Amino acid sequence: MIPFNKAPYLPAAEKYVTEALRSSRIAGDGTYTKLCSKWMEERFQAKKILLTTSCTAALEMCAILLDIGPGDEVIMPSYTFVTTANAFVLRGAKIVFVDIRPDTLNIDEEKIEAAITDKTKAIVVVHYAGVSCEMDKIMELAKQYGLPVVEDAAQGVMAAYKGKALGTIGTLGCYSFHETKNYTMGEGGALVINDEQYVEKAEILREKGTNRARFFRGMVDKYSWVDIGSSYLPSEINAAVLYAQLERADEINEDRLCSWEQYYGELKGLPIDLPQVPEFCSHNAHIFYIKVKDLKERQHMLAYLAAHDIGAVFHYVPLHSSEGGRKFGRFFGEDVFTTKESERLIRLPMWYGLRGEEITKVAKVIETYIDGV
Ligand SMILES: *Cc1c(COP(=O)(O)O)cnc(C)c1O
Repeated sequence: MIPFNKAPYLPAAEKYVTEALRSSRIAGDGTYTKLCSKWMEERFQAKKILLTTSCTAALEMCAILLDIGPGDEVIMPSYTFVTTANAFVLRGAKIVFVDIRPDTLNIDEEKIEAAITDKTKAIVVVHYAGVSCEMDKIMELAKQYGLPVVEDAAQGVMAAYKGKALGTIGTLGCYSFHETKNYTMGEGGALVINDEQYVEKAEILREKGTNRARFFRGMVDKYSWVDIGSSYLPSEINAAVLYAQLERADEINEDRLCSWEQYYGELKGLPIDLPQVPEFCSHNAHIFYIKVKDLKERQHMLAYLAAHDIGAVFHYVPLHSSEGGRKFGRFFGEDVFTTKESERLIRLPMWYGLRGEEITKVAKVIETYIDGV
């Protein structure tokens, strides 16, 4: 069986977890949390990065930081994970879904402007598969209308747009370190703050509404409740697991890219569509997908792959067509590509350590399937 995903196992993670346990300091914001955020701030040239309990938590923090409330509208693609929308719906916002581009499955930057109304409070972009949205155009539009941009870079850790790390381009960015992502702490994420004005507010929000972060920096002599907040900081045990992977992030990234290239090379002659990476993007091989003719062919091929012990899976059901999406949002304009492209997509096994012969097997099974129809 070739599973769809496997979390990286690194011996150093055991060592760090043990060290954290032995230190008897396993709550948040200890040694490993600091090592992780410092590593990311330096590597990604980010103003401030706060480790969180999930990408969902980071998205919820964004909605609070941007003061989203009832009656506000937030623009985003429909082809995304449920929490991209839910984080804003929790504050009372209405979601306005915009169509995606067929090549990258990212929000179509040309269709955003028409969806802006005087109720629009933010633009949320999702870098699908770690391939960047057209950020120059989106940032220019946002500036013109005075709107903040949130990057859901859950899948974009270690990927870049014109040399800038994904997550560091918009007003705020969010990473995921869930088990299914390129780097993982089981459950976890991070908030990337690119606008100075949100730094202190975010620290307070993350720490139960207290000024504990300032207290630890010696800037206040006692800490107390100062504003609204919740608990968004992960434990040191989780951070220790993540740090072992960040230390080897280049190796993990290159390994995945190598698998991605091999899939591409072995599948490129077949009558299926392969991922497209615009020239300004350096991706991180988060997903290798193929696109077949339609929903029916996808069901057949998925069954065929499963019968050959290959863990291939489809991906998002567009949010606007779901019960929650209909309740809390609306699709702006015409759904030209969102449903059509989502219905024909299949994700192939991809993880750190996937072997060349396993990729060859997957490619051969796909080829045999195509030869048989
Ligand atoms: C994985 C993912 C999330 C959620 O991440 P969690 O860390 O599980 O909360 C949000 N958005 C996108 C695009 C994702 O891929």
